[in-house]
Amino acid sequence: MKKHNFYAGPSILPQYTIDKSIEGIKDFAGSGLSILEISHRSKEFIACMNDTIALVRELLEIPSGYQVIFLGGGASLQFAMVPMNLMNKKSAYLLTGEWASKAFKEAKIYGEAVEVASSKDKNFNYIPKSYTVPSDADYFHITTNNTIFGTELTKDPDVKIPLVADMSSDIFSRPVDVSKYSLIYAGAQKNLAPAGVTLIIIKEDVLGKVTRAIPTMLDYRTHIKAESMFNTPPVFTVFAAQQTLKWLKDLGGVKVMHKKNIEKAELLYDEIDRNKLFVPTIKDPEDRSIMNICFVMAEEYKALEQPFADFAKSKGMIGIAGHRSVGGFRASTYNALPRESVQALVDVMKEFEKNN
Ligand SMILES: *Cc1c(COP(=O)(O)O)cnc(C)c1O
Repeated sequence: MKKHNFYAGPSILPQYTIDKSIEGIKDFAGSGLSILEISHRSKEFIACMNDTIALVRELLEIPSGYQVIFLGGGASLQFAMVPMNLMNKKSAYLLTGEWASKAFKEAKIYGEAVEVASSKDKNFNYIPKSYTVPSDADYFHITTNNTIFGTELTKDPDVKIPLVADMSSDIFSRPVDVSKYSLIYAGAQKNLAPAGVTLIIIKEDVLGKVTRAIPTMLDYRTHIKAESMFNTPPVFTVFAAQQTLKWLKDLGGVKVMHKKNIEKAELLYDEIDRNKLFVPTIKDPEDRSIMNICFVMAEEYKALEQPFADFAKSKGMIGIAGHRSVGGFRASTYNALPRESVQALVDVMKEFEKNN
């Protein structure tokens, strides 16, 4: 039976990336060696790293003055590296979910981190809209897509201080005005590659302003200078990312992808809104994520939660359990997820409604 992969991360990759990875494992770039065993200093891999960075620049239309680097440690390491490298005394955070809260916790280690607004009062089911960002903070940190709660902040905010964004779960899903950001980071395992690497886009003029000592490996400048090769990068993951970016470029880039993502999300949200058994956890359409779509059973049908989970599983739906802090269901509809998988889930929801 065909499996439909709705996992939140690591998550579905394009078939192209899987096929090219298999080829690269057997023979990487005609080198006669596997990508798994080749030196990161080989000319073949240096070309792969350079091309991957060039594709990131091209697809996101990154202006000059920005550097693109790949680091290990996951997006979670960025929670600490950002304040360590950017914050002298004060920073500001928009708390829209669990990842934002974790980032905020790390910032407090290094100085005065200010909570600008939070949606915790309603279990993070909306994006706070009216707030003031302190003008004396060194940066303002946002999480553009809240993977666990299913909200997304799609308008690049206008602020007077450097803007930092965790875009782990919506990078490359839509166009972004990079010029509004000083730093963007994203773990690879949602929309880009297998786990193991984090993409960082950084405006160089925000660096070198803090007075604290920064360990060499945790200093962005180390990795900019060494072009992501200060130590051994995750060679295979970077190679896989290159394949996904080629696939995205061939498809027409982020604008085309955005349109497809909106269509997929509308298909599922429309069914959640229509089907009497389900309710969306995010009520305001403006705040609804197009990457992680969360829904629960309607109050009077709560007893059908496990039966629906079992039914969906029997039809090949994988990874639709909601995060434990929300419950219910979450369908992740990342770039690589084909529309037919969303349609299959909608069909399962309709069939389950008819049977009950
Ligand atoms: C998955 C995720 C993270 C954590 O990423 P790791 O690479 O596991 O550290 C952080 N932020 C967001 C928005 C995520 O979706």
